[in-house]
Amino acid sequence: MQGTPFVEFEVQKSISGTKDSKGRNCIANTLPKLRWTKTVGRVVRRAGFSPYWIVRSTSPPAKKVTIVMYHSVHPNPGRAAVSPEAFRRQITFIKKNYAIRRLSEIDNILLNEELSDRTVVITFDDGHLDFMEFAFPVLKELGVPCMIFVPTRHIAEINHSQETMMNGSHFRYLAHQELIGFGSHTVDHVNLRQAPRREIERQTIESKMQLEDLVQYPVKDFAYPYGAYSLEIKEILQAAGYERAVSTRWGTLNSYQERMALRRIFFEETDQDSDLRAKIEGDYDWFALLEAAGSILEMFRMIIRGAANLQRQT
Ligand SMILES: [Zn+2]
Repeated sequence: MQGTPFVEFEVQKSISGTKDSKGRNCIANTLPKLRWTKTVGRVVRRAGFSPYWIVRSTSPPAKKVTIVMYHSVHPNPGRAAVSPEAFRRQITFIKKNYAIRRLSEIDNILLNEELSDRTVVITFDDGHLDFMEFAFPVLKELGVPCMIFVPTRHIAEINHSQETMMNGSHFRYLAHQELIGFGSHTVDHVNLRQAPRREIERQTIESKMQLEDLVQYPVKDFAYPYGAYSLEIKEILQAAGYERAVSTRWGTLNSYQERMALRRIFFEETDQDSDLRAKIEGDYDWFALLEAAGSILEMFRMIIRGAANLQRQT
């Protein structure tokens, strides 16, 4: 459908986007720490070279829409968490320098709008409880909209099964907040690439119905747990009525053609204003090349594994 075939073999990342499904550190988490990579990226970008030319068979008209992915905002920052101070600094910086829009507007933006300036969209994955205490007050104060992708089994829970996640009463409260949108993150936060078709359908259809019950409007947004998707999964999502889906592929340009696997970026605790700007404006977009290389390696690994299995059976 869209993109080159090997993009579908994206190396899977965990909830945090920092480790893959086997717990190995992901390239995208290690490289921003090497400051020289930003300079290289900036030179490459200003020279007019786009890594997307290589990772895409065709180059769909992409627009400067940066989708930021957060997970947790917590006084003990670490894997997938930034501190409340860093979060306030980051959101304040974005608010001051860019137009912030809702994810639900992105189809229209990508299809119809002539963007003169870069646009930023804020998303949160998983529904961590600390959103209520540390993130929402800042978003509300600054009038910044965001979308929360939630595994819906938490919505049914009155008391938390895990006390670090939001429960039904939190979601019901947030459903009435004008700034907050909700999208599905499956029912059980499953890796859809490892699930059979019927389970993929159940996870996507059931979670959509549960969310719609909560918010009382059609839910059309989805985030792939572990960033794991395939052509088949995208088609199942569209058949279920989803219109957009976000991945964990790194990138600051998005196109309507790739609306079922939109690219996102993330920030780290130590990112200063110049780092935030560099990430938002695409100085690290050459990560896409590394992700594509990782995807090719993953594809070879699958082929070799398949061949070994076949040999064992014969
Ligand atoms: Zn997740």
